[in-house]
Amino acid sequence: MPVLFEPFRIKVVEPIRLTTRAERESLLQQAHYNVFRLRSADVLIDLLTDSGTAAMSDRQWAAMFHGDEAYAGSHSYYRFIETVGALTGMPYIFPVHQGRAAEHILFHLLGGPGKIIPSNTHFDTTRANIEQTGAEALDLPIAEALLPESQCPFKGNLDVAKLEELIEKVGADRIPVCLFTLTNNTLGGHPASLANIRAVKKVLSRYGIPLFLDACRIAENAYCIKLREPGYVNRTPWEIAQEIFSHADGCFMSAKKDGLANIGGFLAVRDVTLVERIQHLLILWEGFPTYGGLAGRDLEAIAQGLHEAFQEEYLHHRIHFVAHFAEQLRRTGVPIIEPPGGHAVFIDAARFAPHIAPEHFPGQAIVCALYVHAGVRAVEVGSLMMGKRGANGDHIAPPLELVRLAIPRRVYTQSHMDYVVEALAELYATRDSLRGFRLLSEAPFLRHFTAVLEPL
Ligand SMILES: *Cc1c(COP(=O)(O)O)cnc(C)c1O
Repeated sequence: MPVLFEPFRIKVVEPIRLTTRAERESLLQQAHYNVFRLRSADVLIDLLTDSGTAAMSDRQWAAMFHGDEAYAGSHSYYRFIETVGALTGMPYIFPVHQGRAAEHILFHLLGGPGKIIPSNTHFDTTRANIEQTGAEALDLPIAEALLPESQCPFKGNLDVAKLEELIEKVGADRIPVCLFTLTNNTLGGHPASLANIRAVKKVLSRYGIPLFLDACRIAENAYCIKLREPGYVNRTPWEIAQEIFSHADGCFMSAKKDGLANIGGFLAVRDVTLVERIQHLLILWEGFPTYGGLAGRDLEAIAQGLHEAFQEEYLHHRIHFVAHFAEQLRRTGVPIIEPPGGHAVFIDAARFAPHIAPEHFPGQAIVCALYVHAGVRAVEVGSLMMGKRGANGDHIAPPLELVRLAIPRRVYTQSHMDYVVEALAELYATRDSLRGFRLLSEAPFLRHFTAVLEPL
């Protein structure tokens, strides 16, 4: 593999505090075996999430100084609107403090009992915000998306035949919107193809159902299209994203991902019918429509960050950095979800620890052991995060048991990743000694954030 050149220099550094194995054992116990309860100072390499964890550029920090903190009509708002408008082509744009705030507003307006909202795969906060309204969040990924070893280049695609079947079965009036999550974070961070997005839109148009995008990782999705879909090699990622948005009636985005910002997001719509009601809820829950829960300086950081996230040098490094990490893991035998997506490498916990039953959280066993062994923080995306309880309290497992190693943007270097590979290889060699967990307490939704666990 050719040397992968980091297209940035390091200008500010943040020291990492080293810990011992004995310290980490006791810290994890105090955290009730839930890594969300650890202090970040006690983590060596933090791959918990790529959300809000990006290193900002010198230009973003400089832009923040230009932040206009006026309550209404600040120039930072107009800079933000100009960038988001140019990218999405949407005339009505509302800043929000992060992605789930947009979900809250959108599904409050479109959801409700009896409604069904299909998607290629809903993210956990999206699902929770839909279900909170009494609506059903339905995942319709293509069959290949559930085959960990399949090399299908667009596992983020939505099953068009199943979508059509659903609409025919329940009727279009029960489906207020179809949501496309780009990339499909929870199933592996896989991109969707433009051919699939067009096909989905065609079906929806026939029934008058709007298409919305959950566009958190739209730059990574666009770059994967450039690399993998015929006909796009000579288009810029920004142009490819514009084409994706051209098929959508609305979108929301957490700018904590491909906005390269530490906080923020937006909701945007093409049609005027929802605008007044969005504005009312925005003022009630977030803030005046020209700041939407953000400081002026945050709007500046996002506007600048969006441009940087679409730079080819940046995206080339980003996608190949993740692919290289995946290739190193593959060589050690660690089972991963193929092919690696844009923002993370996902370990197939069901194959890594087949001796642990889903109800004893094989992914969480790997996450906890990886922290104790090496101080690396990953996150379980399996029975703990996505599992449900049946009517009699029994465990209903999600289709895949995964551990996500999310890569913060522009934060870690190659040698940090080499360290993680070595740690995982050692863990894999002793995988038979991994033990499962029992859940002692859980919240009614998004339980993984606060769950209390105990080793078996
Ligand atoms: C992060 C994320 C969200 C929610 O955004 P927050 O900023 O964390 O509230 C929604 N959808 C997807 C696909 C995400 O990755």
